[in-house]
Amino acid sequence: MSTQEYFDQGELVAVLTTQPLDRTLDYKSPEGGCFLGAFVEVPLGPRKVLGVVWGPGQGGFDLAKARSVIRVLEVAPMREEMRVFLGKVADYTLTPMPAMLRLATRAPGLGDPPSMRKIYRLGQAQPDRVTDARTRVLGVLQDYGGLAFTLKELAEQAGVTSSVVKGLVKQGAVREEDSPRDLPYPHLDPDLPGKALTGDQAEAVAKLQAGQRTGDYGTTLLKGVTGSGKTEVYLEAVAEALRMGRQALVLLPEIALTAEFLTRVEARFGARPAEWHSGATMTERRRVWRMVGQGDAQLVVGARSALFLPFRDLGLVVVDEEHDTSYKQEDGVHYSARDMAVLRSAICGARVILASATPSLESWANAEAGKYDRIDLTSRFGEAVLPEMNAIDMRAEQMQPGTWISPSLRQAVLQRIEKSEQSLLFINRRGYAPVTLCRACGEQIACDHCDARMVEHRFLKRLMCHQCGETKPMPETCPSCGVEGKLAPIGPGIERLAEEAEATFPNAKIAMLSSDLFGSARALKAKIEEIAQGDADIIIGTQLVAKGHNFPKLTLVGVIDADLSLHGADLRAAERTFQLMRQVAGRAGRADKPGQALLQTFQPEHPVIRAILSGDEEGFWKTEAAGRQAAGVPPYGRMAGIVLSGPEVGPVFDIGNTLARNDAPLREIGAQVFGPAPAPIARIRGRHRVRLLVKAPKGAPIQDAITRWITPLRLKGDIRLTVDIDPQSFY
Ligand code: ADP
Ligand code: ZN
Repeated sequence: MSTQEYFDQGELVAVLTTQPLDRTLDYKSPEGGCFLGAFVEVPLGPRKVLGVVWGPGQGGFDLAKARSVIRVLEVAPMREEMRVFLGKVADYTLTPMPAMLRLATRAPGLGDPPSMRKIYRLGQAQPDRVTDARTRVLGVLQDYGGLAFTLKELAEQAGVTSSVVKGLVKQGAVREEDSPRDLPYPHLDPDLPGKALTGDQAEAVAKLQAGQRTGDYGTTLLKGVTGSGKTEVYLEAVAEALRMGRQALVLLPEIALTAEFLTRVEARFGARPAEWHSGATMTERRRVWRMVGQGDAQLVVGARSALFLPFRDLGLVVVDEEHDTSYKQEDGVHYSARDMAVLRSAICGARVILASATPSLESWANAEAGKYDRIDLTSRFGEAVLPEMNAIDMRAEQMQPGTWISPSLRQAVLQRIEKSEQSLLFINRRGYAPVTLCRACGEQIACDHCDARMVEHRFLKRLMCHQCGETKPMPETCPSCGVEGKLAPIGPGIERLAEEAEATFPNAKIAMLSSDLFGSARALKAKIEEIAQGDADIIIGTQLVAKGHNFPKLTLVGVIDADLSLHGADLRAAERTFQLMRQVAGRAGRADKPGQALLQTFQPEHPVIRAILSGDEEGFWKTEAAGRQAAGVPPYGRMAGIVLSGPEVGPVFDIGNTLARNDAPLREIGAQVFGPAPAPIARIRGRHRVRLLVKAPKGAPIQDAITRWITPLRLKGDIRLTVDIDPQSFY
């Protein structure tokens, strides 16, 4: 395919804009012409909008009427690799191209000319008076050679106030300059000494690096128990990418994780990488976007959307905790960052490392089938050993009503407190109680807008809907029957468990860790840091603690309700329970003390619980894989979820029925349609939701069939349709 790369002034170009149109628009190339892929500003009606030159104009209308591109933005043009990638993601996820372009340009002020700010370097003169503080400032500037700092960075590094720096500027000992705001990131040095690797680790690194040196695409599943050194290993793959002059991207599931991780990157490579996540400032996001595009950011650590950054030469993508469900975006563009990382890497000849202690069945199956390489790290680093896992059979425990900590678990916690070790009590439910029941009439307080019960948050003194976020004050009287004082909390959430722990262990220091209890990611990080230092005897945590934090003094994990997620309607319920329980248990005994995990369960003989306890992972996956194969569901079959929603339930169902009746395009590829049925959450934010599920054989062209199936639909009024290919959560 020979594509025209450059368009002379006045030539017609097709521009893809971020506006919701189903086609590109033709404009005249501006003064000075423009390159294919150039980011441009174009007029659309009375507005100016962002776009990308996508190819030669289509023409077919009066040329005199064509408007001209307003200007070409001062950023690197979109590379062909990126255009191909966006097109393929659009085809795979059935997303219109303008939405893809929005995803790829999520940095504010892209078109702004580079703005300036003050930076500071070593000056020529000597200060008149030498103080400790002044010496530290000059020391920092000398240590970092020619590197420039902002005022804040310099003062922080030297541990002085900014007035000390300003004083040195007056004396000429420090130079103040104007510099473009979007500075390149500090150079990362792959050849600084890393840690001495163990035999297993070194072997893994050698395999990964050999793959990298081929310069071709390839994906490796890096499976290793928590604490086995997966991070150490993939940092060496990052080092190799940097040595090859290519860029690396490390995707992490949770912002709270990055603090610890960034420190490790700095220790390994001598500087901090670029960060991309929703907590980053607008200026920082813009800087990342631009520097990645011009090759002045060697490593990006980020959340899933970092995959859509305009890398100049991406050589490695690491997806850490690859099984994590937060890699699937479920609003806007429905995409799986893990799967799309593989797609992008295949296009640009990069390597992918999928790291996890408990891989997804998808990745496990791809490794089994030989599509992915697989490397196992089987032992924990140092003296750390895997925790011993045991069940507490709740049928045999003497429980007081309204309590959840069994006598056996209580004993185990007391033993740890005696030895000054930490215990974690895990419950995967935020708030105080999941249900508020009126003991007079039996009413359970529900959200006015959703098909969901309201969760009491005693800490906030409110009821909250976990679907739409709506809150209301806790009522004194039942909203249904009006009787006073009969409302009762049913079941435990993290806050209620903490209350019970306080009563059960009156002398212990208790810390609660739940994403909603902290005002900011920073506050949460600080708390995690404190706990890691040992500032808690008992940690009460939700899912948040299952993810990669290091608590060296933690030796006991008690799972309050191991049965909780076993019985979801979700085809991945068993897999999720298995992953979560193993992840949580992996928190115990990371340093030199052995750990123990105790699972409270009413079904100790359930196959999933048994697999968790025995640690027979391959056995679990084989059984799970066989079950899914027999049912023809992912990863051995394909699925898509169609959700129709609208303010009235009737018309939404009518459309669902129309779709179900006209399923010829699906039958042609051997696919089946289930539904329409009310979605598991039948109403969210006042919109009624009806769902159809499409199940197709593996390899069937499901996107094409779905497109032909839904295109004839005329959606009237306020009815919306969303398609979710490879749905992860069924709601
Ligand atoms: P994982 O990512 O598999 O959970 P990490 O890479 O975080 O494991 O390693 C767990 C802990 O052991 C970390 O504190 C890490 O620094 C340490 N560690 C792992 N391998 C080594 C090594 N070869 N030398 C020194 N420390 C190591
Ligand atoms: Zn709601």
